[in-house]
Amino acid sequence: MTKKDFYSKAEFFTPDEIFDIQKQRFINILNIIKNTKFSNFYQQKILQHNQNKLTLDNVIAKFNNCNDKADFYNLFNQLIPFTTKQDLRENYPDKLCCFDKKNYVRLHCSSGTTGNPTAIFYTKADLDKWADLMARSLFVAGVRPDDVFQNMSGYGLFTGGLGIHQGAEKLGCLTIPAGAGNSKRQIKLLQDFGVTVIHILPSYALHIAEIISEYKKHQFSNLRIAIVGAEPYSEESRQRIQNALGVKVFNNFGLSEMNGPGVGIECQQQNGIHIWEDSFIAEIINPQTCEILPNGEIGELVLTTLTREGMPILRYRTRDLTKILGNDCPCGRNHLRIDRILGRSDDMFIVRGVNIFPMQIENILMNFQQISNNYVIMLQTNPQSNLDDLHIKVEIKNEFFSEDIRQLQNLQKAIESALHDEILVRPIIELVQHNSLPKSDGKVKRVIDLRQK
Ligand code: AMP
Ligand code: ZN
Repeated sequence: MTKKDFYSKAEFFTPDEIFDIQKQRFINILNIIKNTKFSNFYQQKILQHNQNKLTLDNVIAKFNNCNDKADFYNLFNQLIPFTTKQDLRENYPDKLCCFDKKNYVRLHCSSGTTGNPTAIFYTKADLDKWADLMARSLFVAGVRPDDVFQNMSGYGLFTGGLGIHQGAEKLGCLTIPAGAGNSKRQIKLLQDFGVTVIHILPSYALHIAEIISEYKKHQFSNLRIAIVGAEPYSEESRQRIQNALGVKVFNNFGLSEMNGPGVGIECQQQNGIHIWEDSFIAEIINPQTCEILPNGEIGELVLTTLTREGMPILRYRTRDLTKILGNDCPCGRNHLRIDRILGRSDDMFIVRGVNIFPMQIENILMNFQQISNNYVIMLQTNPQSNLDDLHIKVEIKNEFFSEDIRQLQNLQKAIESALHDEILVRPIIELVQHNSLPKSDGKVKRVIDLRQK
């Protein structure tokens, strides 16, 4: 790729240029926090964190006087407290808004399932910057203004609808707000409008992939790119989606607390997600001790908004587990790359004393060509032993759901032992017929915990 092939020249900033802009933008955010009359959340939080020894002016001066990158990040680690989901819930709906209500033009909520949701408010300038980051992300994945873009994720409070939509429009694509679900209609739209790019959740993509494989490939020959994110998926699942749809899949990452999608995406190398460091500071911490971890170590991703004026969020503990892969890439961009999200710290479940992430199970299941794309993990208390059972229902492709019981039993055993090797717990595998498990067109719930608490 030539260096001229970019949407924003920020994509090709050198590490020094990235640092300069991070410093300038972070100080700008601190000034917004200092000057606002509408939220005292960070004013208090930063003072408390520094045991009232430093005023906000002192803190800003320290950052201003710091010209060395390593010193800057040390200072950041020392002076700036973490923000948690709990903080956002306790300050729901709007106690982090730095401006008068009349300055905001939109809000979104995160997809949390328990307790208060978290609400994010955007000014007009915030929406413009977000659209720009999303357009940049799509461009980096190879999307161009003459593409026809079908957004197959739910609209409404979820940022994957409007967030992606505004980026595709900003880039200049003909954008179809298809929304989630109704696979027949989705496929009709794909065909009728010669769609070239889709945005889709991985669980829904795996479902659509099965339906599409029943059609003739040439009916979708225009389709070339799938932007896939919003929930974890394995490399095996990426391969399945690529093969079934005849597309290249790019892993797209974001969360409502950091606007939504557009925090980062994979480039043509498909070798990890570039986080847009001119707009976010990314760190990986040990979730137990909160220490910063070196590149290559798995921990919790922590993100800071650098350009959102209406509702800045500092050092947000995402609960997403990943590792930093580095900040060089054959594409020439220096924005750091993180590994695919391996799971969320709150997705982990414990069975018979062993910590297990759903993604470990998906990795193994998707290696079996007989298994179709849907499965569900059930945690149950065994009434006899009173121990936890890990019960996994997996759909088998029609051509393998044979009447030969022995063949199915062999497959079942093979899956059981492959999983046992990986997770050290022997699961109970139930093979079920294709299309018999519930489907999802929003974020999928793969784990059902029925254990007696
Ligand atoms: P929400 O704020 O409701 O949109 O949810 C954001 C969360 O979705 C993130 O914190 C991640 O846990 C998950 N997520 C978003 N993008 C990805 C991705 N590309 N891979 C894995 N998980 C993702
Ligand atoms: Zn790259």
